[in-house]
Amino acid sequence: MKKILLFLVCVLGLQVHAQQFNDYFDDATLRIDYTFSGDVHQQRITLDKLNRSPRWYGKRQRLAEVPVEGNGQIIVRHHATRKEIYRQSFSTLFQEWLSYDEPQHTARSFENVFLVPMPKDTVDITLELYNNRRAVMATFTHQVVPTDILIRHIGEHHRTPFVQLLSPKDTSRCIHIAFIAEGYQPSEMPTFIADATSSMEAIFAHEPFKSLKDRFSVVAVQAPSIDSGTSIPSKGIWKQTALSSHFDTFYSERYLTTLNLKDLHDQLAGIPYEHIIVLVNTTHYGGGGILNSYNLSMAHHPLTRPVVVHEFGHSFAGLADEYGYANEQIPMYPHDVEPWEPNLTTLVHFGDKWKDMLPAHTPIPTPQVAKNQQRIGVYEGGGYALHGVYRPMMDCRMRTNENPEFCPVCRRAIRRLIQFYTE
Ligand SMILES: [Zn+2]
Repeated sequence: MKKILLFLVCVLGLQVHAQQFNDYFDDATLRIDYTFSGDVHQQRITLDKLNRSPRWYGKRQRLAEVPVEGNGQIIVRHHATRKEIYRQSFSTLFQEWLSYDEPQHTARSFENVFLVPMPKDTVDITLELYNNRRAVMATFTHQVVPTDILIRHIGEHHRTPFVQLLSPKDTSRCIHIAFIAEGYQPSEMPTFIADATSSMEAIFAHEPFKSLKDRFSVVAVQAPSIDSGTSIPSKGIWKQTALSSHFDTFYSERYLTTLNLKDLHDQLAGIPYEHIIVLVNTTHYGGGGILNSYNLSMAHHPLTRPVVVHEFGHSFAGLADEYGYANEQIPMYPHDVEPWEPNLTTLVHFGDKWKDMLPAHTPIPTPQVAKNQQRIGVYEGGGYALHGVYRPMMDCRMRTNENPEFCPVCRRAIRRLIQFYTE
């Protein structure tokens, strides 16, 4: 009897969730293009374009919850009832740029693109950006009327060719990943498919992706480029590629990114995707990962496989870098604020982090000696700082390319995130 009751409760629970999605949303995607602009003193968000594409490939339950806080959030409210019906977190290159010197004296603008399920009724959409003290630094609200004739329809008749690399057990509850080609000419697409397959295998060789592999859908999108390779401004090399990616982002030599978010999402229109991995056809070392925006990595370097997985730790799970620099110029993590990232602590609210995984009598900070190599502790150095910020293990995929796996704290964070999206 108890079992039957429990079963009924579960079934009813599922129906409530499905009902909530169907009450407020159609099975379609609303893609919203924004411009984020400003300098260190003032930031501004403005609306660019609204687009609609078939099907919705993001979460269908826990719609108004986020598994990680991020450096910003997008919030959808039903206009008539003010009820919050969808929320997602993200990070942006714009906010990262604000930590450099240029925004001290110059205002710039950046493209940003977000996907939300297509609302059935009028909604109010709010964007919030947070500073490194986790306080709101910019906010913007606008209305979307779903019958607006100027919402551009995309991805209905013309889609970039793609190949399904991995199919999930249950397509209604899975995580959609798209690999996309950057700097591959049409004749190089077999190379791209092989590169995407190899990178995918690298991700699923790591726990907990390995044991939860059947919850993922992976496609490889063959976006064609005119030139082969990518731009390297420090060497005066400029190429014409699908996403206009380049090294030397913010004048940092190994920082390979694309700032053309609209081109990226245009190439993906109508394709089953939520999380994006851009593979760049270059042998030069570089990459970057931005939470719920994209992961971008070089495709042909001996370290490609660990770098793709490391950057996916940022873009998919919101994990922080666990390394520090000897001469950090601008502190990313103030020592009196607990970071939101699950794999760092300033000890301000360590109870929210991995305190429950710490063996009894572990000294804090934990000495970085050989016998502690495989022990969870509280090791000083992480989040680009050598002091005041702590990490869970001496080494991790989020610290070095040599370590073969994610540390237990990162593994737990990733597992929780996969469960959040698929259970
Ligand atoms: Zn870790």
